[in-house]
Amino acid sequence: MLNEIADPTPRANQIRIKISACAVCHTDLHICEGEIHPAFLPIVPGHQIVGVVEQQGSGAHRFAIGARVGVPWLNWIDADCKWFGTDRENLCENIRFTGFDTNGGYAEYVCVDENFAYALPDAFDDVHAAPLLCAGVIGYRALRLSEIERGETLGLYGFGASAHIVLQIARFWKKRVLVFTRSELHKQNARALGADWVGSADEMPPYKLDSAVNFAPVGELVVRALEWSERGATVVHAGVHSTPIPTFDYALLYHERTLRSAANSTRRDVQELLDLASKIPLRTQVTTYALADANRALQDVKHSRVSGAAVLQMK
Ligand SMILES: [Zn+2]
Repeated sequence: MLNEIADPTPRANQIRIKISACAVCHTDLHICEGEIHPAFLPIVPGHQIVGVVEQQGSGAHRFAIGARVGVPWLNWIDADCKWFGTDRENLCENIRFTGFDTNGGYAEYVCVDENFAYALPDAFDDVHAAPLLCAGVIGYRALRLSEIERGETLGLYGFGASAHIVLQIARFWKKRVLVFTRSELHKQNARALGADWVGSADEMPPYKLDSAVNFAPVGELVVRALEWSERGATVVHAGVHSTPIPTFDYALLYHERTLRSAANSTRRDVQELLDLASKIPLRTQVTTYALADANRALQDVKHSRVSGAAVLQMK
Protein backbone atom coordinates (compact mmCIF):
# COMPACT_ATOMS: atom_id res chain seq x y z
CA MET A 1 0.00 0.00 0.00
CA LEU A 2 1.49 3.38 -1.01
CA ASN A 3 1.39 5.79 1.94
CA GLU A 4 2.75 9.22 2.83
CA ILE A 5 4.91 9.08 6.00
CA ALA A 6 7.21 11.60 7.69
CA ASP A 7 10.78 11.86 6.35
CA PRO A 8 13.10 10.04 8.79
CA THR A 9 15.64 12.06 10.83
CA PRO A 10 19.19 10.63 11.23
CA ARG A 11 20.19 9.76 14.78
CA ALA A 12 23.81 9.74 16.04
CA ASN A 13 26.18 8.04 13.56
CA GLN A 14 23.39 7.74 10.99
CA ILE A 15 23.13 9.17 7.51
CA ARG A 16 19.94 10.01 5.68
CA ILE A 17 19.91 8.69 2.13
CA LYS A 18 17.76 9.97 -0.73
CA ILE A 19 16.90 6.69 -2.45
CA SER A 20 17.16 6.26 -6.21
CA ALA A 21 16.69 2.48 -6.49
CA CYS A 22 15.82 -0.53 -4.34
CA ALA A 23 15.94 -4.10 -5.59
CA VAL A 24 13.19 -6.56 -4.68
CA CYS A 25 14.17 -9.70 -2.76
CA HIS A 26 12.33 -12.96 -2.09
CA THR A 27 12.68 -12.09 1.60
CA ASP A 28 10.47 -9.02 1.03
CA LEU A 29 7.85 -11.40 -0.32
CA HIS A 30 8.14 -13.63 2.78
CA ILE A 31 7.62 -10.51 4.94
CA CYS A 32 4.64 -9.23 2.92
CA GLU A 33 3.00 -12.66 2.91
CA GLY A 34 3.49 -13.13 6.68
CA GLU A 35 5.86 -16.11 6.48
CA ILE A 36 8.49 -14.29 8.54
CA HIS A 37 7.65 -11.59 11.05
CA PRO A 38 9.33 -8.17 11.12
CA ALA A 39 9.98 -6.23 14.35
CA PHE A 40 6.93 -3.98 13.81
CA LEU A 41 4.03 -3.40 11.44
CA PRO A 42 3.36 -1.56 9.27
CA ILE A 43 6.97 -1.59 8.01
CA VAL A 44 8.68 -0.28 4.88
CA PRO A 45 10.38 -3.35 3.31
CA GLY A 46 13.43 -3.26 1.04
CA HIS A 47 17.09 -3.96 1.76
CA GLN A 48 19.01 -3.46 -1.48
CA ILE A 49 19.07 0.31 -1.40
CA VAL A 50 21.03 2.74 -3.58
CA GLY A 51 20.97 6.49 -3.09
CA VAL A 52 22.97 9.56 -2.11
CA VAL A 53 23.83 10.87 1.34
CA GLU A 54 21.64 13.88 2.00
CA GLN A 55 22.10 14.55 5.71
CA GLN A 56 24.53 13.47 8.46
CA GLY A 57 23.49 12.75 12.05
CA SER A 58 25.85 13.79 14.88
CA GLY A 59 29.19 12.00 14.65
CA ALA A 60 28.59 10.72 11.10
CA HIS A 61 31.53 11.61 8.85
CA ARG A 62 32.47 8.55 6.74
CA PHE A 63 30.57 9.75 3.67
CA ALA A 64 30.34 13.27 2.24
CA ILE A 65 26.99 14.86 1.46
CA GLY A 66 26.14 13.77 -2.09
CA ALA A 67 28.20 10.54 -1.94
CA ARG A 68 26.52 7.49 -3.50
CA VAL A 69 26.07 4.61 -1.08
CA GLY A 70 24.38 1.22 -0.83
CA VAL A 71 22.52 -0.33 2.10
CA PRO A 72 22.22 -4.13 2.36
CA TRP A 73 20.12 -6.50 4.51
CA LEU A 74 22.71 -6.39 7.33
CA ASN A 75 21.69 -3.22 9.16
CA TRP A 76 23.50 -3.32 12.50
CA ILE A 77 25.52 -5.65 14.76
CA ASP A 78 26.03 -5.35 18.50
CA ALA A 79 29.67 -4.24 19.10
CA ASP A 80 29.71 -6.36 22.29
CA CYS A 81 28.82 -9.53 20.39
CA LYS A 82 31.56 -12.19 20.61
CA TRP A 83 31.45 -12.51 16.81
CA PHE A 84 31.61 -8.75 16.05
CA GLY A 85 34.14 -8.08 13.29
CA THR A 86 34.70 -11.78 12.58
CA ASP A 87 33.63 -13.97 9.66
CA ARG A 88 30.66 -15.05 11.80
CA GLU A 89 29.33 -11.65 12.88
CA ASN A 90 26.20 -12.56 10.88
CA LEU A 91 25.36 -14.91 13.77
CA CYS A 92 25.03 -12.04 16.33
CA GLU A 93 21.88 -12.61 18.39
CA ASN A 94 21.09 -8.89 18.49
CA ILE A 95 21.64 -8.41 14.75
CA ARG A 96 19.25 -6.06 12.93
CA PHE A 97 18.11 -6.21 9.34
CA THR A 98 17.12 -3.44 6.96
CA GLY A 99 13.42 -3.44 6.10
CA PHE A 100 12.79 -5.98 8.87
CA ASP A 101 13.98 -4.42 12.15
CA THR A 102 14.02 -0.90 10.66
CA ASN A 103 12.18 0.81 7.82
CA GLY A 104 13.78 -0.05 4.49
CA GLY A 105 14.07 1.08 0.91
CA TYR A 106 10.62 0.91 -0.70
CA ALA A 107 10.58 4.65 0.00
CA GLU A 108 12.12 7.99 -0.93
CA TYR A 109 14.35 8.26 2.17
CA VAL A 110 16.03 5.93 4.64
CA CYS A 111 18.34 6.44 7.65
CA VAL A 112 21.13 4.00 8.44
CA ASP A 113 24.25 3.74 10.64
CA GLU A 114 27.11 4.94 8.42
CA ASN A 115 29.21 1.91 9.41
CA PHE A 116 26.68 -0.32 7.67
CA ALA A 117 26.61 1.62 4.38
CA TYR A 118 29.01 1.04 1.48
CA ALA A 119 30.52 2.98 -1.40
CA LEU A 120 29.46 1.32 -4.67
CA PRO A 121 31.60 0.46 -7.71
CA ASP A 122 31.47 3.25 -10.32
CA ALA A 123 30.96 0.79 -13.17
CA PHE A 124 27.40 0.11 -11.97
CA ASP A 125 24.57 2.59 -12.35
CA ASP A 126 22.04 2.75 -9.52
CA VAL A 127 19.55 0.16 -10.76
CA HIS A 128 22.27 -2.34 -11.74
CA ALA A 129 24.11 -1.87 -8.41
CA ALA A 130 21.01 -2.51 -6.27
CA PRO A 131 20.77 -6.32 -6.77
CA LEU A 132 24.41 -6.73 -5.69
CA LEU A 133 23.41 -5.73 -2.16
CA CYS A 134 21.45 -8.86 -1.21
CA ALA A 135 21.07 -11.14 -4.22
CA GLY A 136 24.81 -10.75 -4.80
CA VAL A 137 25.96 -10.68 -1.18
CA ILE A 138 23.96 -13.64 0.16
CA GLY A 139 24.78 -15.57 -3.00
CA TYR A 140 28.46 -14.87 -2.46
CA ARG A 141 28.39 -16.04 1.18
CA ALA A 142 26.44 -19.18 0.24
CA LEU A 143 28.96 -19.88 -2.51
CA ARG A 144 31.88 -19.52 -0.08
CA LEU A 145 30.14 -21.81 2.43
CA SER A 146 29.65 -24.40 -0.34
CA GLU A 147 33.45 -24.86 -0.36
CA ILE A 148 33.41 -24.33 -4.09
CA GLU A 149 37.21 -24.07 -4.16
CA ARG A 150 37.50 -27.78 -3.30
CA GLY A 151 35.69 -29.16 -6.34
CA GLU A 152 34.95 -28.71 -10.01
CA THR A 153 31.18 -28.83 -10.28
CA LEU A 154 28.59 -26.53 -8.70
CA GLY A 155 24.84 -27.15 -8.72
CA LEU A 156 22.44 -24.19 -8.39
CA TYR A 157 18.82 -24.83 -7.43
CA GLY A 158 16.40 -22.01 -8.24
CA PHE A 159 17.54 -19.42 -10.74
CA GLY A 160 16.39 -16.00 -9.56
CA ALA A 161 18.31 -12.85 -8.73
CA SER A 162 20.95 -14.52 -6.52
CA ALA A 163 21.74 -17.46 -8.79
CA HIS A 164 22.17 -15.29 -11.90
CA ILE A 165 24.98 -13.48 -10.06
CA VAL A 166 26.47 -16.61 -8.43
CA LEU A 167 26.67 -18.36 -11.82
CA GLN A 168 28.88 -15.52 -13.11
CA ILE A 169 31.19 -15.69 -10.07
CA ALA A 170 31.52 -19.48 -10.36
CA ARG A 171 32.28 -19.20 -14.10
CA PHE A 172 34.90 -16.54 -13.30
CA TRP A 173 36.47 -19.06 -10.91
CA LYS A 174 36.47 -21.60 -13.80
CA LYS A 175 33.90 -23.94 -12.25
CA ARG A 176 31.41 -26.11 -14.10
CA VAL A 177 27.89 -24.88 -13.30
CA LEU A 178 24.73 -27.00 -13.48
CA VAL A 179 21.41 -25.18 -13.03
CA PHE A 180 18.22 -26.84 -11.80
CA THR A 181 15.02 -24.86 -12.31
CA ARG A 182 11.42 -25.40 -13.44
CA SER A 183 10.88 -21.98 -15.06
CA GLU A 184 11.43 -21.94 -18.86
CA LEU A 185 12.39 -18.26 -18.63
CA HIS A 186 15.01 -19.06 -16.00
CA LYS A 187 16.31 -22.02 -18.03
CA GLN A 188 16.85 -19.78 -21.05
CA ASN A 189 18.57 -17.19 -18.91
CA ALA A 190 20.89 -19.73 -17.27
CA ARG A 191 21.95 -21.02 -20.71
CA ALA A 192 22.54 -17.47 -21.96
CA LEU A 193 24.76 -16.76 -18.94
CA GLY A 194 26.94 -19.80 -19.67
CA ALA A 195 25.56 -22.64 -17.55
CA ASP A 196 27.19 -25.95 -18.58
CA TRP A 197 23.92 -27.86 -18.16
CA VAL A 198 20.34 -26.81 -17.40
CA GLY A 199 17.51 -29.07 -16.31
CA SER A 200 14.85 -29.67 -13.71
CA ALA A 201 15.52 -30.91 -10.17
CA ASP A 202 14.42 -34.49 -10.91
CA GLU A 203 16.51 -34.86 -14.07
CA MET A 204 19.84 -36.67 -13.74
CA PRO A 205 22.70 -34.22 -14.42
CA PRO A 206 25.75 -35.32 -16.45
CA TYR A 207 28.18 -34.72 -13.55
CA LYS A 208 28.11 -35.29 -9.79
CA LEU A 209 27.98 -32.15 -7.68
CA ASP A 210 30.97 -31.19 -5.52
CA SER A 211 29.07 -28.19 -4.17
CA ALA A 212 25.45 -27.09 -4.39
CA VAL A 213 23.49 -24.04 -3.34
CA ASN A 214 19.70 -24.03 -3.11
CA PHE A 215 18.07 -20.60 -3.41
CA ALA A 216 14.47 -21.85 -3.57
CA PRO A 217 12.46 -21.92 -0.31
CA VAL A 218 11.80 -25.63 -0.85
CA GLY A 219 13.38 -28.08 1.62
CA GLU A 220 12.99 -31.06 -0.71
CA LEU A 221 15.54 -29.57 -3.11
CA VAL A 222 18.45 -30.07 -0.70
CA VAL A 223 17.65 -33.79 -0.67
CA ARG A 224 17.64 -33.76 -4.49
CA ALA A 225 21.05 -32.04 -4.35
CA LEU A 226 22.43 -34.67 -1.94
CA GLU A 227 21.22 -37.43 -4.31
CA TRP A 228 23.40 -36.09 -7.11
CA SER A 229 26.33 -35.13 -4.89
CA GLU A 230 29.89 -36.48 -4.95
CA ARG A 231 31.46 -37.93 -1.79
CA GLY A 232 32.64 -35.09 0.48
CA ALA A 233 30.29 -32.59 -1.19
CA THR A 234 28.77 -29.59 0.57
CA VAL A 235 25.13 -28.61 0.04
CA VAL A 236 24.03 -25.15 1.22
CA HIS A 237 20.41 -24.13 1.82
CA ALA A 238 20.48 -20.36 1.37
CA GLY A 239 16.88 -19.43 2.10
CA VAL A 240 15.79 -17.31 5.07
CA HIS A 241 12.58 -19.36 5.06
CA SER A 242 11.90 -22.87 3.78
CA THR A 243 9.35 -25.63 3.64
CA PRO A 244 10.45 -28.60 5.84
CA ILE A 245 13.28 -30.83 4.66
CA PRO A 246 11.86 -34.35 4.19
CA THR A 247 13.58 -37.23 5.99
CA PHE A 248 16.16 -38.98 3.85
CA ASP A 249 18.35 -42.04 3.97
CA TYR A 250 21.62 -41.67 5.88
CA ALA A 251 23.48 -42.99 2.82
CA LEU A 252 22.81 -39.61 1.17
CA LEU A 253 24.83 -37.84 3.87
CA TYR A 254 27.46 -40.53 4.46
CA HIS A 255 30.98 -40.20 2.99
CA GLU A 256 31.49 -36.87 4.70
CA ARG A 257 28.89 -34.89 2.85
CA THR A 258 27.86 -31.65 4.57
CA LEU A 259 24.42 -30.06 4.62
CA ARG A 260 24.32 -26.53 6.03
CA SER A 261 22.40 -23.28 5.90
CA ALA A 262 23.65 -19.82 4.96
CA ALA A 263 22.30 -17.02 7.13
CA ASN A 264 22.56 -13.38 6.11
CA SER A 265 26.08 -11.97 5.71
CA THR A 266 28.96 -10.12 7.30
CA ARG A 267 30.30 -6.67 6.36
CA ARG A 268 33.28 -8.44 4.84
CA ASP A 269 30.97 -10.44 2.56
CA VAL A 270 29.40 -7.19 1.33
CA GLN A 271 32.76 -5.53 0.66
CA GLU A 272 34.28 -8.60 -1.05
CA LEU A 273 31.24 -9.04 -3.29
CA LEU A 274 31.32 -5.35 -4.31
CA ASP A 275 35.06 -5.64 -5.10
CA LEU A 276 34.49 -8.82 -7.09
CA ALA A 277 31.57 -7.23 -8.95
CA SER A 278 33.81 -4.67 -10.64
CA LYS A 279 36.70 -7.08 -11.10
CA ILE A 280 34.77 -9.78 -13.02
CA PRO A 281 32.78 -7.58 -13.99
CA LEU A 282 29.37 -8.93 -13.02
CA ARG A 283 26.43 -8.10 -15.27
CA THR A 284 23.25 -7.75 -13.25
CA GLN A 285 20.04 -8.12 -15.23
CA VAL A 286 17.22 -5.92 -14.04
CA THR A 287 13.58 -5.22 -14.73
CA THR A 288 12.60 -1.81 -13.37
CA TYR A 289 9.30 -0.80 -11.76
CA ALA A 290 8.00 2.48 -10.34
CA LEU A 291 7.76 2.60 -6.53
CA ALA A 292 3.96 2.61 -6.83
CA ASP A 293 4.18 -0.75 -8.66
CA ALA A 294 6.02 -2.55 -5.81
CA ASN A 295 3.22 -5.08 -5.39
CA ARG A 296 3.34 -5.97 -9.09
CA ALA A 297 7.13 -6.40 -8.81
CA LEU A 298 6.68 -8.73 -5.80
CA GLN A 299 4.11 -10.81 -7.70
CA ASP A 300 6.43 -11.07 -10.71
CA VAL A 301 9.25 -12.30 -8.42
CA LYS A 302 6.88 -14.78 -6.77
CA HIS A 303 5.83 -16.29 -10.09
CA SER A 304 9.36 -16.35 -11.62
CA ARG A 305 8.37 -13.83 -14.30
CA VAL A 306 11.55 -11.77 -13.88
CA SER A 307 14.89 -12.52 -15.57
CA GLY A 308 17.51 -11.54 -13.01
CA ALA A 309 16.31 -8.96 -10.47
CA ALA A 310 13.29 -6.68 -10.09
CA VAL A 311 14.29 -3.15 -9.09
CA LEU A 312 12.11 -0.28 -7.89
CA GLN A 313 13.17 3.06 -9.29
CA MET A 314 12.35 6.25 -7.38
CA LYS A 315 11.66 9.48 -9.21
ZN1 LIG B 1 17.36 -10.11 0.39
